Amino acid sequence: MLENQELRKAGLKVTLPRVKILQILEGSQGLHMSAEDVYKALLDAEEDVGLATVYRVLTQFEGAGLVIRHNFDSGHSVFELARGEHHDHMVCMESGEIIEFIDEEIERRQKEIADKHGYEIVDHNLVLYVKPKQKS
Ligand SMILES: [Zn+2]
Repeated sequence: MLENQELRKAGLKVTLPRVKILQILEGSQGLHMSAEDVYKALLDAEEDVGLATVYRVLTQFEGAGLVIRHNFDSGHSVFELARGEHHDHMVCMESGEIIEFIDEEIERRQKEIADKHGYEIVDHNLVLYVKPKQKS
């Protein structure tokens, strides 16, 4: 199984909870999930994995570089697979929906600003908190 290889590559032993949780994160609803979301998905799949295990595994995944944790202001931490491609996020304050975007102009400007101050960017995290536009 692909998940087994990914776990080993990340230096983690293959265990059933780890494989199941990785599968869920790789699924279509898995783009940005809280530990509770993952737990509910496991329940739906009738997998017997406790919430404490979900937290522990997600933290292990984060430590191994398999997932990225986001602490958006809207509530719980959410986790997404580290896919190696940079993107920024928009969080809808009404629905909690998380939208990914990438904007070359923003990326370029950030580099320029850091450069102007004598720095280069190591990493950045841009989050826009949004709400649906009022119809006029
Ligand atoms: Zn994302």
